[in-house]
Amino acid sequence: MRDSLRNGSSDGQTNWDVGRVSGLDAFVRRSVSVSEEIVAHIETLISSGSLTPGTKLPPERELAAVLNVSRVSLREAMHELEKKHVIERRPGRGTVVLDAPEHARAFYDGLSESERTLRDVAELRETIEPKIAQLAAERATAATLHALASVLAPSATDMPVDESIEADITFHMLLAHASQNPLMVGLLTLANQWTASVREFSHKTANGRRDSHRGHQLIFDAVRAGDGPAANAAMLAHLADVAVLTRDAYPTF
Ligand SMILES: [Zn+2]
Repeated sequence: MRDSLRNGSSDGQTNWDVGRVSGLDAFVRRSVSVSEEIVAHIETLISSGSLTPGTKLPPERELAAVLNVSRVSLREAMHELEKKHVIERRPGRGTVVLDAPEHARAFYDGLSESERTLRDVAELRETIEPKIAQLAAERATAATLHALASVLAPSATDMPVDESIEADITFHMLLAHASQNPLMVGLLTLANQWTASVREFSHKTANGRRDSHRGHQLIFDAVRAGDGPAANAAMLAHLADVAVLTRDAYPTF
């Protein structure tokens, strides 16, 4: 009886009598839901390049078994990934990982070689990535924070150039996913393609790799604290470091 839940106040306010509703207090709040964990896991695989655009995911029953999760949780996660335009469910063709947005790709294809200079790329990154970090601080799920921490931890000690670059790209892409803005994800995917040939220069020396890790740690601390302006500033500082390191190591500068 609905009326039994109220204490019958006459001032129009609803005052719930918790004591009379059995089971309400049994709710256990988990910091991370299973579906959020699945979303973060798939986004990590995409960010690291393990899952490339166009890849077809296994059927629901199989995927649930592989991930060892219930089909309900999996369905919830797939729905979320679809909403974020990370995957697309095509009737009769299954679920595929989506490419960067078509209009962004057309823009990329139209650029001449000379336009893809280090300076252009640095300016582009400075334009979009501080905002991405800020949004990530405001919107990151507990699962994304966990994924970011997992990517960050191994780079605390020096790692080979290849692994260092891969961890760098994964970290920045996970932040984009954490921003919950699929256009940002698409744009950063393309920015990474533009920077692919020059990115290695900031990772060439142990000093550069250490600077990179320190920058990531400061960004992560701000994101975890939910401090948007601090995350924005930390990303700007990191990109300035990267620009100097790249310029110093790049053969034509
Ligand atoms: Zn970085």
